[in-house]
Amino acid sequence: MISVLDQDFSQLNLFITDLKPTKIIILVDENTHEYCLPVLLGNLETEIPFEIIEIEPGEDLKTIETASQLWEILSEFEVDRKSLMINLGGGVITDLGGFVASTYKRGIKFVNIPTTLLGMCDASIGGKTGIDHHFLKNIIGTFAEPEEIFVYPHFLKTVPYVELRSGFAEMLKHGLIADQTHWNDLTSLENLSAESIFPLIENSMRIKQTIIEQDFKEQNIRKTLNFGHTVGHALESLFLQQGKPIPHGEAVALGMICETYLSFLAGNISNDKAEEIIGNIRKFYPYIAISQFTDERIVALMMNDKKNSSGKISFSLLKSIGECTFDSEMSNEQIISALNYYQNLN
Ligand code: NAD
Repeated sequence: MISVLDQDFSQLNLFITDLKPTKIIILVDENTHEYCLPVLLGNLETEIPFEIIEIEPGEDLKTIETASQLWEILSEFEVDRKSLMINLGGGVITDLGGFVASTYKRGIKFVNIPTTLLGMCDASIGGKTGIDHHFLKNIIGTFAEPEEIFVYPHFLKTVPYVELRSGFAEMLKHGLIADQTHWNDLTSLENLSAESIFPLIENSMRIKQTIIEQDFKEQNIRKTLNFGHTVGHALESLFLQQGKPIPHGEAVALGMICETYLSFLAGNISNDKAEEIIGNIRKFYPYIAISQFTDERIVALMMNDKKNSSGKISFSLLKSIGECTFDSEMSNEQIISALNYYQNLN
């Protein structure tokens, strides 16, 4: 369940009073420690003992090594099965914290308090937890639902612009796959700021939540949320391998451009419609050069994507604005043609 928090965090306090955990563990990174933890602690009204665990920020910390350190710390703090973990941060914290909580002692309860736009509209919702391994994105993980998701949009006020823009890509995706009006509202924004995005956040959260409720284990419609991610994840992994991670949403924006073109190649949408969509995505994102990676390397990584089976690469492709298919197999030639199309946009 998603609750949008009042100024005094009353819903969170009520939740903790009802749950009566033995201990609370709050996971933060350096930035959420500085910008968000004081707000949380200032509003937390509980006698239950709590501990704070801080990690450095960044995708490169979303690893088995960090998870292992966290399991060790939970042990040292004598965290038991009735403890509660609060993940206060962006997608890295909610993915990693959810993974650690769902595996420690075969699973302890956790809640997510997302602090980035991407976290609020996407990563904190849907119960996918995970870590990267050997530079493969989210290759190890669990399906584990948080007890609740508490959203406090004011946290966005300190989020750097580049991270705001990253989260905005997942909102655009929600419009493209499920809701043309949402897409129109998003693409008509003149500038991206916490204030301009505030009114549109709940719609994005609702779209994701509605899809998850229909297909939690990703057997069918949930696959549409992967639109832009087959190409996006492969490139994100390559940049991560290079030691130059790019924001997740920027990889997704790039992926959505390629996969919109693939939707055209598949005969789902017209060339004009593809160009209109791609033009709107490009309004918000800088061009990211990918010529340092060979087509073969990119395609090989896509082959490793969790969504594939029988050695074929599957895509979720647009049927129109607001409608998306899934399980569309595309040939390597078509994929390379989409990558070449992207490179020619420069
Ligand atoms: P992030 O967690 O790394 O946060 C981005 C940056 O913003 C970090 O430096 C962080 O410290 C900082 N930050 C967070 N909140 C802040 C605040 N309120 N003020 C100032 N700075 C703040 O990245 P993200 O973009 O939130 O999430 C990306 C991750 O989410 C990726 O690992 C991706 O794989 C994952 N993800 C998961 C799902 C899912 O369904 N589980 C969906 C989408 C993305």
